[in-house]
Amino acid sequence: MFVDVVKIKISAGRGGDGCVSFHREKYIAAGGPDGGDGGRGGNIVFRVDDHMSTLLDFRYKRKYQAANGEPGAKKRCFGKDGGDLVIKVPRGTLIKDAASGALIKDMSDAEPFIAARGGRGGWGNSHFATPTRQAPRFAKPGQPGEEREIVLELKLIADVGLIGFPNVGKSTLLSVISAARPKIANYHFTTLSPNLGVVYVGEGSSFVAADIPGIIEGASEGVGLGHDFLRHVERCRLLVHVVDVSGSEGRDPVEDIDAINAELSGYSGALASLGQVIAANKCDILPPDSDNLERLRRRAEELDAPVFEISAAAHMGVDALVAEVWRRLETLPPVTVYEPELELDAPPPADPEREIIIRREGDTYYVEGAWVEKVVANVNFGDYESRMYFERVLRRAGVFDMLEREGVQEHDNINVMGMEFEYIY
Ligand code: GDP
Ligand code: MG
Repeated sequence: MFVDVVKIKISAGRGGDGCVSFHREKYIAAGGPDGGDGGRGGNIVFRVDDHMSTLLDFRYKRKYQAANGEPGAKKRCFGKDGGDLVIKVPRGTLIKDAASGALIKDMSDAEPFIAARGGRGGWGNSHFATPTRQAPRFAKPGQPGEEREIVLELKLIADVGLIGFPNVGKSTLLSVISAARPKIANYHFTTLSPNLGVVYVGEGSSFVAADIPGIIEGASEGVGLGHDFLRHVERCRLLVHVVDVSGSEGRDPVEDIDAINAELSGYSGALASLGQVIAANKCDILPPDSDNLERLRRRAEELDAPVFEISAAAHMGVDALVAEVWRRLETLPPVTVYEPELELDAPPPADPEREIIIRREGDTYYVEGAWVEKVVANVNFGDYESRMYFERVLRRAGVFDMLEREGVQEHDNINVMGMEFEYIY
């Protein structure tokens, strides 16, 4: 079974919680806070694996979860970061946002891509000691990791697509020109997923060819696995149109060429306009009285496509075909790589100075943090103007929103670094 579109859920790891702890040593009555920070949650990372050519693995596993960060410990010990989860995909896999369909990343190069970031670890209480508060009894919890629903869609990356009806010899040709060993058999649809092979043309020169199975009449309207396979032709730079010129299956090579080309144009104009080289295969069993080759040549001339007489099975004429393909590739633009339509948000930089902590004890909500402390220090609470200023600053910093998220109710107590007041909407 060929699988080239799957929907999966990815969840990065949660950050580990910061630790609340105080230095303890013999003969030292009360040491300072020494709670360490939690570790970062693991990222979800995608990486290209050239040994893969389908997304089959994803059919059986739909949820991917990276490891959580470990909590901080006493003596300022950092929690261990959660390990990244690396997900391998075939080259040419598109990562899309499931809800909008927008492209997040085209996995076409060797660079790993972070698709969901692990949550930051929380700060241990050692961060929150200040001259006026030497024993902070709180630490930050770890942040949740990013979660997304994404669609993986494979659009193979190959310089050359081998197209043609089933059984004309595409897989045989690929196995002859490359080290790929696709299944070859004398029945239709032996090949259920595209096979890729690297074709070496000489010192340091090579191209990637893909055997694209399953193109039949009606493919562009979705007959058989039509659309699935045509999708993979889209990025090819050149097509090798393989045709059984011997008519061994009672088919006519000219009609075959026209039928496949009609499917290409039915799918997209871009496909139809790709350059083609025609491989007239099975010349070894061409009946001597057949006019197939002459008729094919005449049609090919109208299509402005060169014809190479080959026998893939007998390895005849194949080198000349490969040489022509290479000559043409050298003049063609490189494989298309799609630009992202959706930028994933970069995480805000970690800044302990700006951290605002809200914690609840009974019906009192404590608002704490280095920044809040600085604000409080600058307010003269005996002065109305100054108190209004204080409220405005807190509101703008989102403190009231945070309190409401924590479930604050009217008339609950709010304690901002020692300043207590009642919460009134
Ligand atoms: P595909 O469906 O286009 O991939 O075709 P295959 O490569 O699987 O080949 C189909 C059948 O045609 C197999 O039995 C091959 O051995 C046979 N075949 C392929 N190329 C040639 C050839 O050049 N001459 C002859 N006589 N048979 C061939
Ligand atoms: Mg095949």
